[in-house]
Amino acid sequence: MRVGARSKLPKFPSREKIEKFIADNRLKTPYLIVDLDVVEHNYKTLRATLPVADVFYAVKANPAPEVIKRLVKLGSHFDVASPAEVELALEAGAKPEMISLGNTIKKEEDIKWAYDYGVRMFAFDSEAELQKLARSAPGSKVFCRLLVSCEGADWPLSRKFGCEVDMARDLLIKAKDLGLEPYGVSFHVGSQQTRVDQWGNALGQAAALFKALEGSGVKLQMINLGGGLPAHYTDSVSSVNSYSSAIMKALTKHFGADLPRIITEPGRSLVGDSGVLDAEIVLISKKSYADDETRWIYLDIGKFGGLAETLDEAIKYRIEPLGRKGATAPAIMAGPSCDSADILYEKFKYQMPLSLQVGDKLRFHSTGAYTASYASVGFNGFAPLPTYCI
Ligand SMILES: *Cc1c(COP(=O)(O)O)cnc(C)c1O
Repeated sequence: MRVGARSKLPKFPSREKIEKFIADNRLKTPYLIVDLDVVEHNYKTLRATLPVADVFYAVKANPAPEVIKRLVKLGSHFDVASPAEVELALEAGAKPEMISLGNTIKKEEDIKWAYDYGVRMFAFDSEAELQKLARSAPGSKVFCRLLVSCEGADWPLSRKFGCEVDMARDLLIKAKDLGLEPYGVSFHVGSQQTRVDQWGNALGQAAALFKALEGSGVKLQMINLGGGLPAHYTDSVSSVNSYSSAIMKALTKHFGADLPRIITEPGRSLVGDSGVLDAEIVLISKKSYADDETRWIYLDIGKFGGLAETLDEAIKYRIEPLGRKGATAPAIMAGPSCDSADILYEKFKYQMPLSLQVGDKLRFHSTGAYTASYASVGFNGFAPLPTYCI
């Protein structure tokens, strides 16, 4: 697969396609529109820049059946966490051998269920989980998740997941004794990882583990690089190409030419930039008569309707006021629900046109990941965010 210089630039949804879809379907905000061609572009770019790695799409980022179907067609594998996600992947046409149950926290009955459907690849990071796998998924390929620091990630996945290298070594030896196949290791350097060197640190740990286990007669065969590749929000990030070359360099440094099977589990980087989310302004107000008082802009979507990643203002979307230009001033943004936690951005002050009116629309760009799948079932009666794939 050849990728020209142009594909190093991020691809965003076609504005024309989106406007036509909105007009044809008379959509009412809030809604998420996903351009499947952007997902395809991102998949192909990753495959082209990091050809050693098999791609396992992390379904939780955007579980829309159309997204999964498009990725099945492109040859993707899938990283899932629950029986419902296994079903989604199977219904979209994925084969059980293309599915990895990467969650380290699983009910034993769910493990058994997935095993009965033919899933044979499972993650763990503790002895108790390993015992469940031995009982309910005998003979399966199992991989141990390592604890890594997640420094540099805007949405860290640290502390909760993984175990230290010495524990991983003991558990992988034990896996063999329990009749499982000690397949490899995984880690996740944190989502929206802004530092291209973070995979190198984790791969150093993985290499030490490979070596230690070889001394004990266990030859691991797989490294799972996790997710972490970024989407494009307000801060600029390095290109996929820079990440891929940093990862490749680290792989060669630690493993030489004799690489084990390499797996990557992108979520955000495949679907993030594919989405736009439109919201309507419900209210613009001030809290006092003071001249320097900041405007509050209240929208018809908030933290509970799909913008959960604004928690601690971790993810700062690119926000475009549709159809309004001219002088701007800082504004605080909030959702519509009766919960004061439902403030989107207060510390980070977006510059918004002074001409904005109630009823105007704001477009949140690069909202294809972790939005619709994070929406509550309908807190305060505000419906979950609908997804339209085009
Ligand atoms: C969420 C998740 C991913 C995807 O991470 P991104 O940062 O969105 O790419 C990959 N692997 C596992 C195990 C995950 O839980």
